[in-house]
Amino acid sequence: MKRLTILGSSGSIGQTTLTAIRRFSLPVKVIGLSSHTNIEQMIGDGHAHNAEALCSTGTHVEGLYHGHEGLEAMLDDHRPDIVLNAISGFAGLRASLATLERGIDLALANKESVVCGGSLLFATARAHGCRIIPVDSEHSAIATLLAGHKRSHVESLILTASGGPFRLWESDRFAHITAEDALAHPTWQMGAKITIDSATLANKALEIIEAAALFGFDGDHIEVVIHPQSIIHSMIRTLDGATYAQLSKPDMSLAIINALLDGPAAVVEPLDFSHLTLTFEEPDHQRFPLLSLAYDILRRQDLSAIAFNAADEVAVAAFLEGRISYPTMIDVVRATVEREWSGNGSTLAEITQQDRLAREIAQSML
Ligand code: NDP
Ligand code: MG
Repeated sequence: MKRLTILGSSGSIGQTTLTAIRRFSLPVKVIGLSSHTNIEQMIGDGHAHNAEALCSTGTHVEGLYHGHEGLEAMLDDHRPDIVLNAISGFAGLRASLATLERGIDLALANKESVVCGGSLLFATARAHGCRIIPVDSEHSAIATLLAGHKRSHVESLILTASGGPFRLWESDRFAHITAEDALAHPTWQMGAKITIDSATLANKALEIIEAAALFGFDGDHIEVVIHPQSIIHSMIRTLDGATYAQLSKPDMSLAIINALLDGPAAVVEPLDFSHLTLTFEEPDHQRFPLLSLAYDILRRQDLSAIAFNAADEVAVAAFLEGRISYPTMIDVVRATVEREWSGNGSTLAEITQQDRLAREIAQSML
């Protein structure tokens, strides 16, 4: 049995993972869990899975590992074969690094890690002989598709996007969008941050940058297509003009379990093609300008991806608190990224410093 530690186990990805492991009796032993504030959920899950160790990264709880140092100590004392990083936001980067520095394979849901510290993470994985396995559904699909093709035969990656709840809205309505409107995602049940990001297409912007870092394709070879049913998780185009795709019902269990297990497990229902309609649209860069911003960031080859991520975290939090409107959220991200963000991001200290600076700039615009 593979020994698994789940970081951010109380969140949406963490809970989907624990449910799938129990429901399908998967050959995985959950040994460690971390949560930030939802201690009750973690303690309950710890009992249910007979976990060896629990870490509260936020709230201090007697008898549990605590904070980032506690998380590192838990990994040292109770060594897993694989860590699933399902922490949300920039905070996940340190956890990813701590995992790889110990030579432990990393199943990575926390896309912010790769967006902000991609080259550092890959250098660390190489130095310690361990793997980074994508869990984001698009990237999981692409990793599977690329495994069946020679890299030199692949022309481009095609990320699918549901288009979010405002796909058909005229932009003159955007100023009146409420947090409740934006939290109503048409196809996926996820944490609040990524749900808002799906509404602005900031999530797809992060995923373009994530794909570039994970698979080594430049922006000219990463396409986005709107596919409202979210059945096709992503595709690759080969030089002969063919396109290959991965399809299933929208359920993160598939990507998560494929990252954790070495062989297939029947975690999602097979598709019934007699009741299936798949449609596609061009993304609208006018109404959703953060998508174009991702391509600008890839062309710049600087640290503006860190600025994008930080400003977006600040703006989404303010939007959820009702402090800024939907259009302001977009403006804050664009204006922060526009600054100069030079550097190569080779150390955690440099990445953290740029993240802090971008947060300060974004905050000052609220
Ligand atoms: P949630 O908000 O549902 O869960 C986040 C988890 O991270 C919780 O366990 C939370 O703890 C913990 N956490 C929050 N802040 C910190 C912190 N500062 N330090 C340590 N732990 C923290 O998020 P999701 O599960 O939706 O997303 C997790 C990651 O996976 C994100 O990076 C997201 O982009 C990515 N992802 C998610 C998908 C989805 O379907 N949800 C799909 C693809 C990628 P607590 O709740 O106890 O405070
Ligand atoms: Mg995704």
